[in-house]
Amino acid sequence: RYMGPTAEEIVRKRKEFLSPSMFYLYKKPLNIVHGKMQYLFDENGRRYLDGFGGIATVSCGHGHPDVVQAIVNQTNNIQHSTILYLNHAIADFAEALASKMPGDLKVVFFTNSGTEANELAMMIARLYTGCQDVISLRNAYHGNAAGTMGATAMCNWKFNVVQSGVHHTQNPDPYRGAFGSDGEKYAKDVEDLIRFGTSGHVAGFIFEAIQGVGGIVELAPNYLTSVYSTIKKAGGLVIADEVIVRSLEVQCGVARTGSNFWGFQNHGIVPDIVTMAKGIGNGIPLGAVVTTPEIATVLTRRNYFNTFGGNPVSTAAGHAVLKVIEKEKLQENAHVVGSYLKERLCSLKDKHEIIGDVRGRGLLLGVELVTDRKSKTPASAEVLEVMDNMKDLGVLIGKGGFYGNVFRVTPPLCFNKQDADFLVDVMDYSMSKL
Ligand code: PMP
Repeated sequence: RYMGPTAEEIVRKRKEFLSPSMFYLYKKPLNIVHGKMQYLFDENGRRYLDGFGGIATVSCGHGHPDVVQAIVNQTNNIQHSTILYLNHAIADFAEALASKMPGDLKVVFFTNSGTEANELAMMIARLYTGCQDVISLRNAYHGNAAGTMGATAMCNWKFNVVQSGVHHTQNPDPYRGAFGSDGEKYAKDVEDLIRFGTSGHVAGFIFEAIQGVGGIVELAPNYLTSVYSTIKKAGGLVIADEVIVRSLEVQCGVARTGSNFWGFQNHGIVPDIVTMAKGIGNGIPLGAVVTTPEIATVLTRRNYFNTFGGNPVSTAAGHAVLKVIEKEKLQENAHVVGSYLKERLCSLKDKHEIIGDVRGRGLLLGVELVTDRKSKTPASAEVLEVMDNMKDLGVLIGKGGFYGNVFRVTPPLCFNKQDADFLVDVMDYSMSKL
């Protein structure tokens, strides 16, 4: 039984001692005191089905015993920085991670977050090419440090940073984009940007295979193959931000999209650099940049280190996550349960006029609400209301999108069909109450 501070006491302390910028998901914030696989428990012992935890941190389930054991064992043994001595944990996990990557993507740099990973990736691209200009997509989220905030392209997540050398191209968003699902037309904008906004040479192109914070937006078909060749012609590197492809998911990463381990694999290209974070540690701070041996040599021009990047406990956790994904066939599960869940969410569209679009892959799904299907006016208030109602009925989901009008359904990869049914039934009921 939980005997700790109540939600009210924690809110009071947050108000007094924590950054005023912290925000809550619900009108009455939840005090989560325990988690087990796809479930979360509040201070009163009430159980919630977690339909969102996958996005942030948890790939194989809250408190998965194998991952917990790996963390405990390693903590008992040694927890230290990686820069002073040898330790096998970082080397073993790097090897395991590299074995999951296609092509020549074999060299891993570890970081503590997705932001750090993308900062490093952009720096590597700039060093390797000798160019400054990076192209990123409108509606992207790549982090919130100086460089990555420049690459992030939604004003609601941006402060007054000097946005040097980043150009934002049209988002190949099949639902809201100017050219619908015509990937080639959006790709033309990248060509134009390079011609008219740069020297003709660029450092690189950074993209999420499925935009997470932006509202689970998939890239229009054929977009990436076309952009890939344009970027190559301009001498740039292609950077896949797989931070969410959960699990290896900073929302799109590890196994989350089901049919392939990585989100970019759904588009038939092999990037020059892949970044990941969030779910790869199942809740432990861990990020990574994976690139080719040749590109990696640029970091030998100066001294480069990250004190806790790749520390033994984080890498032991990451390695355990990979093993669980394999042992429990979670990639296949993401595909099977994710397809079922998407099908059921799609069928809600026939019933509720407010649903404008259902999209995503595997267990990285989005449901966009609009007050009018033609004008696509965002139904942002309704999203909050449904989410709150679902929470009261025991189901947690997230929201995203520039207008905050997209449900993000990104459960841990251990989600099953009964969970999917319960989530959709509760969403259905909550929408009928609007
Ligand atoms: N890239 C993507 C695609 C993300 O979704 C996020 C976080 N939402 C980040 C990068 C930044 O990761 P972090 O918060 O760990 O810095």
